[in-house]
Amino acid sequence: MKVTEHIANAKGETLFSFEIVPPVKGKNIQELYNNIDPLMEFKPPFIDVTTSREEYVFIEKDGLFEKKVTRLRPGTLGICASLQHKYNVDTVPHVLCGGFTKEETEYLLVDCQYLGIENVMALRGDAMKGEKYFTPTKGGNCYAVELVEQIQNLNQGKFLLEQIQTENTPEFCIGVAGYPEKHMEAPSLQSDLKRLKEKVDAGADYVVTQMFFDNKKYFEFVNAAREMGITVPIIPGIKPLAVQRHLSILPQVFWIDLPQDLIDAVEKCNTNKDVRQVGIEWCIEQSKQLKAAGVPVLHYYSMGKSDNIKAIAAAIF
Ligand code: FAD
Repeated sequence: MKVTEHIANAKGETLFSFEIVPPVKGKNIQELYNNIDPLMEFKPPFIDVTTSREEYVFIEKDGLFEKKVTRLRPGTLGICASLQHKYNVDTVPHVLCGGFTKEETEYLLVDCQYLGIENVMALRGDAMKGEKYFTPTKGGNCYAVELVEQIQNLNQGKFLLEQIQTENTPEFCIGVAGYPEKHMEAPSLQSDLKRLKEKVDAGADYVVTQMFFDNKKYFEFVNAAREMGITVPIIPGIKPLAVQRHLSILPQVFWIDLPQDLIDAVEKCNTNKDVRQVGIEWCIEQSKQLKAAGVPVLHYYSMGKSDNIKAIAAAIF
């Protein structure tokens, strides 16, 4: 079922969903299942599976280092298929511009259709690890809006090669990213919102936000988006802070601010176990307030271990 249908069927009740990251290749998938199992009691209607960019690795050969490009966490679509089969849940693969030609994206979408996947998140992707700026892939989409257009074309039976006759068109429900605290490259929040509107006008059906730790930022963002004429559901993406290092890493990677009360609470902690508890309690308060405001879904970034998400979901759902 489509994410938007799940939201409509919930009739105003807030749903629970989460995002997972594929394991590093060579690792056993069982660890992923062990983390998902405890979350299934909260009946997520859909689970997102991220796609990682390729990255550079240096391989030693005859005393010299060779620079190679590899994708360390492949398997997004395989994991989606496996979760659908194992848990009877809808899955949402993240589809990227970066690292894929348009032709490869088309193959991926055809695979999605054959697997009965009805939802995709359309994203530009980050810059490759070790590179400062995003560089579009030759023959690929440059911005998420172009990817939305490609998916919508397919929804209308238009393949890249126009002479292909379509008998069975897909009907992908398309999610896109939104940034309550602005995307790092956008010159202003207003200009970033205009770009978001372009994605919605091109056919995106819903928005999932970047993580935020201050609900005020989300509420202001939703108001600004509504004023701009963006009417699709805006799903808050939230993450419990889990280790002391997050205080510096999260702002650096995601360009978000952390509230002073949260920083103070974390700085008082002696161990990461204490920090994890502070993160859980903060996220429960955030979730309660968002749920009371009637958000359609509470979408959690699980990043591997799920004990904290389970504790939060148990307090909310
Ligand atoms: P876009 O919407 O294309 O925007 C990128 C930047 O370009 C913005 O600053 C925007 O304002 C600007 N812009 C947009 N259109 C134009 C235009 N036509 N001309 C000029 N400027 C323009 N990354 C991954 O690699 N894998 C994932 O699985 C993944 N999942 C994510 C899930 C969520 C919910 C979120 C919020 C992010 C995720 N990301 C993921 C990160 C995302 O790929 C990065 O934030 C990326 O830098 C931007 O992606 P986007 O789709 O928002 O890009």
